[in-house]
Amino acid sequence: MQEFDVAVVGAGLAGLEVARDLASRGRRVAIIDRKSNLADGVHTTGIFVRRTLESFDLPDDCLGPAVRHVTLYSPYGRSLNLESRFEEFRVGKMGHLYNTWLDRARTAGVSVFLDTAFQSLNSASDDESLTTLNLMTASDHWSLNTRFVIGADGATSRVASQLGLSENKEWIVGVEHVFTDVPMGGEPRFHVWLDPVLAPGYIAWLVHDGEEVHVGVGGYANRFHPREALDEFLVKMRKQFPLDKGQLVDRRGGRIPVGGVLPQLINKRGLLLGDAAGAVSPLTAGGLDPCLRQSQAAAVVADAWLHSGDAEVLKAYDGGWMRKKFWIRNGLRRMLAMIRSRWLMECGFYLFNTWPGRWFAHRVFFSPGSFPDLPLERSASLQAAISSQ
Ligand SMILES: Cc1cc2nc3c(=O)[nH]c(=O)nc-3n(C[C@H](O)[C@H](O)[C@H](O)COP(=O)(O)OP(=O)(O)OC[C@H]3O[C@@H](n4cnc5c(N)ncnc54)[C@H](O)[C@@H]3O)c2cc1C
Repeated sequence: MQEFDVAVVGAGLAGLEVARDLASRGRRVAIIDRKSNLADGVHTTGIFVRRTLESFDLPDDCLGPAVRHVTLYSPYGRSLNLESRFEEFRVGKMGHLYNTWLDRARTAGVSVFLDTAFQSLNSASDDESLTTLNLMTASDHWSLNTRFVIGADGATSRVASQLGLSENKEWIVGVEHVFTDVPMGGEPRFHVWLDPVLAPGYIAWLVHDGEEVHVGVGGYANRFHPREALDEFLVKMRKQFPLDKGQLVDRRGGRIPVGGVLPQLINKRGLLLGDAAGAVSPLTAGGLDPCLRQSQAAAVVADAWLHSGDAEVLKAYDGGWMRKKFWIRNGLRRMLAMIRSRWLMECGFYLFNTWPGRWFAHRVFFSPGSFPDLPLERSASLQAAISSQ
């Protein structure tokens, strides 16, 4: 049976980044994904925020033009324009980006198993320190052994339940259509509708960057029908924008965990990362920055644990600490979820005309912040493990 130091389940951005990082530290790494081509079944709009663009080396050909304008709309059509002096957002060409990241992982030495679904795990029969992953392809069942498992398998992680770690319990659902060649005119802009009936607990959006137009809705699944809401929204958008002159090139959608970072993310057998760890901003539902930043910490901790075998090292990857950093955004999410009437939202929208309201809107959309970097330097065991390597 093949044996690896680390087996990463899920080749989304989180899994690809941590796999590449660990392989470049000299670890024998396998990455497994049920997709046969990572460009298929993309579920994200792919909006990257300024801090991510500044911190990570995202190739230019994987990104659309910069967006620095946002327009907010109330349920009854009032609007508010926000403008930033910075290049705030860029929409990723996600299929191309995933395959570029896959190439980087392969170049770093990662063994890639596509078209392969993770099913379950158990202790290896002959060696308690090894975990056996049971996998399935279209024609075969097979297994591999690994010293450590990383669950980067998305919002409904099977690895989480198999490892006995925390699991996501609160989601919103997002669906969108992607168009090209729409003659939009004007500056690239992110249009955001706050409408608790059309998009309960979240937003409806249209983002155009001069190359693609993404039109979508998101909300709590028990309070709306995502596809019907998107159809209704598309009718409205077609009256406002010349979508019919372009081409519909993709339909996307999926669950976004918004309950906050999960408390228990790691044990001796493995850890959770990205959506599987609930690492998504509870307010904006942005998960791409968390994916990349949390991967860095996960790689450091996994590498140190494999090197030292000291269980104290695992405490540095602390879901409770990460969760606390989001208490304000968690509170704002609770408030957004409570607004069920269009009139109430309309009244709330009036606040955006005040100085504090405008400041707040700027802060939400143009925040220079990002997912928190774990204070790894505070863990003496981790530092000892790193310095003895
Ligand atoms: C509609 C929508 C729009 C969004 N827009 C944005 C946005 O604009 N900006 C932003 O920052 N965030 C956005 N998000 C959130 C963001 O996309 C996610 O947080 C992020 O992509 C999560 O990455 P990940 O690598 O953790 O998981 P994923 O990208 O979900 O990757 C998980 C991978 O695991 C694989 N997998 C799952 N189960 C198995 C299994 N059993 N065996 C093998 N493989 C498996 C899947 O095939 C997948 O490739 C959006 C989400 C949605 C749904």
